[in-house]
Amino acid sequence: MQINVAEKLLTLKGRGRKVLGCFPLYPPMELFYALDLVPVVLWGLKDAIKSTPECDKHLQPYTCSVARHLTEFVLTEGSGMLDGIFMYNACDTLRNLPEIITTATEKNGRSLPLFNIHIPMVLPEQTDASAYFKNEINQLINDLENRFGKKFSKEKFKEAVTKVQNIRKLMADAEKQVALGAIHFSDFSESVHACWFSPLEDQAGILETLINTGKNSKSQKTSLKTGVILSGILPPPASVIAAIELSGLTVVGNDIASLGRTYASMPKVSEDPDSYFLDFYYQHYPCPTLLYTGDRRTTSLFNLLDASGAKAVIFIGEKFCEYEYFEFPYLSKQLNDRGIKTLEIEIAIDDDAHTSAHRSRIEAFAEMLKSTE
Ligand code: SF4
Repeated sequence: MQINVAEKLLTLKGRGRKVLGCFPLYPPMELFYALDLVPVVLWGLKDAIKSTPECDKHLQPYTCSVARHLTEFVLTEGSGMLDGIFMYNACDTLRNLPEIITTATEKNGRSLPLFNIHIPMVLPEQTDASAYFKNEINQLINDLENRFGKKFSKEKFKEAVTKVQNIRKLMADAEKQVALGAIHFSDFSESVHACWFSPLEDQAGILETLINTGKNSKSQKTSLKTGVILSGILPPPASVIAAIELSGLTVVGNDIASLGRTYASMPKVSEDPDSYFLDFYYQHYPCPTLLYTGDRRTTSLFNLLDASGAKAVIFIGEKFCEYEYFEFPYLSKQLNDRGIKTLEIEIAIDDDAHTSAHRSRIEAFAEMLKSTE
């Protein structure tokens, strides 16, 4: 199964929904849902975008596939299907992307409203930026109300918070079925990504179907397999996941930005969006794109290893993503010192069809893990 993003957006437009294209990965979804908007996180568009000629007029070829795919999508296939773009500051690659996209869109004779907030990338214990951040959230609410003619309601916000928390729990439950060997990691990852392009009311059904498939599966054989954790920005291509699973490895946990790092955070339910999102961003599961979470990164990986019983970590490097690459050597050393084996593979924009080298390395890694057990 591959997600047809354009079709999903067309269906949403057919249902009269207002769609907000969001990047990077952790937008304030609950707020958008409370204002009857459908946020779609423009990540994991690899299957939807086969080449990037339009994007290549604006971005250098040494930017990551994530930025190139999303730019191509917004400027071509997704053009006209989005009612606005939301972004917050993350890496250097994304920093000027909204201006590039809006200028290119204007040149094509359209206007695409841009909404943004700035998240102070400072350690909360060292610099108190909470007043600034809360003002950013309240300003965003004003801008959205003015643009879409909706009035913010605390009740609707709290309702959206509760529903989103339920979705996060279902994602974690689905991941457990992968760890049990009952469903493939690729099916799990496709279902979670499908949720990022679906309205809130459809998401529970997508995940419950997957969980029930796992519960009814007869292929739970974890005891025979060696557990690994996958870490990176995006899940690897299906061919690489197949290589991992066919080598006798089971993905028992993930530290993938578009998967586990997204649903691991569970802030306290609140009806006040500014306090809620302050908690959400500052207590967020560590990710290199949220700079202030860096000090907690190793601890969270160790916790994940302890909880899952994994014997190894496979880092899925997104080519040209410096944020992730800067941390790999340090993390690998910390893990190796603890006896945890690590493997690093790199996925480039055109790697979907050329993954046999990765397969060989994964098979060798799996053999090595089994021989040391
Ligand atoms: S964090 Fe990395 S993968 Fe994500 S947009 Fe920035 S450079 Fe690309």
